[in-house]
Amino acid sequence: MNSTIELAKELISRASVTPLDEGCQDLIARRLEKIGFNIEHMPFEEVKNLWATYGKEGPLFIFLGHTDVVPTGPIEDWKHDPFLPLEENGFLIGRGAADMKGSVAAFVTAIEDFISQNKEFNGRIGLMLTSDEEGPSVNGVKRVIKKLQSRQESIDWCLVGEPTANNQVGDVIKIGRRGSLGASIKIQGIQGHVAYPQKALNPIHESLGAINEISKLAWKDETGEFQDSVLQISNLNSGTGASNVIPGDLNFDLNVRFSPSTTEKEIKESVEKILSNHSLNYSVSWSLSGNPFLTKERTLIDAVKQSISEVTDIETETSTDGGTSDGRFIAPIGAEVVELGPVNESIHKVNECIRSEDLITLSEIYNQILVRLLTKD
Ligand SMILES: [Zn+2]
Repeated sequence: MNSTIELAKELISRASVTPLDEGCQDLIARRLEKIGFNIEHMPFEEVKNLWATYGKEGPLFIFLGHTDVVPTGPIEDWKHDPFLPLEENGFLIGRGAADMKGSVAAFVTAIEDFISQNKEFNGRIGLMLTSDEEGPSVNGVKRVIKKLQSRQESIDWCLVGEPTANNQVGDVIKIGRRGSLGASIKIQGIQGHVAYPQKALNPIHESLGAINEISKLAWKDETGEFQDSVLQISNLNSGTGASNVIPGDLNFDLNVRFSPSTTEKEIKESVEKILSNHSLNYSVSWSLSGNPFLTKERTLIDAVKQSISEVTDIETETSTDGGTSDGRFIAPIGAEVVELGPVNESIHKVNECIRSEDLITLSEIYNQILVRLLTKD
């Protein structure tokens, strides 16, 4: 059997629902140690992180991935046990097959092939894995990066294995991601009887104008690589349930997915300016889950595109859509970040799967990227 498929199956058979790792990282660490990698386990609280590196000097290329998976949902909806990998009609089925144990297996075999074929090369190779990508992402890559920074370590190129393809491996790569900023807003009124509105302050009436204006906020993208930044109101609640009571407050939540042309500060100011202009008695609690990033340098992007076309003959499209990824923690330290992984059609669903062929293709592309970046001038 093919070694990438075999390793993917071994990883899938470990039920590593976030924040569990269930020995996936140990298994990979043992393989990489055997070919000369330096292994560091960096657990933070219940989260397992692995930092494996090879080579002494030169630019550092890393693969970034996660060993945790999302929960299966009702097991009876699956064709079979989601943690007993099954090969059927050319697909490998199981939780994590596409997101992203398949890519992780392909990282490992690509590295093994590269090291066995290139005794000498210019640069270093790293593999960073966490068991907290699908969860709160607090004790995973974010903390590993902090630790590396405290040791003055820098990363030049980072390839994230998240599932980026629409139909075929290599058809889409991500060269950036939007940021995500959320807010919970409370508008304070004064509760009272609907028959005596002069003795109350209706937060629904008071805030309608402001909410309408806020819902229309948008910020133009000027990079040419992103959609414009839009705001969405996701929750809106007020009222006691009784029809004769003016409620005491109104609460709503919003989220903005934003491009690098807009800043967190600018978004906060626009929203709060509207609330103030309407003289509302409000409080707001903001939470930033990630800043946007965009890789503008061409070295990694070109190496990835050329490797894809060499292995698959596909013309690659660059994209920045979708949710956030752990790439957001790597880009700010100055690394070029590109994401390339399998077809994303089945991720987080029941009967998650990956085309078995795609595992082999991915490993070949990852191997080619190493060849282009580390063995050519
Ligand atoms: Zn993932």
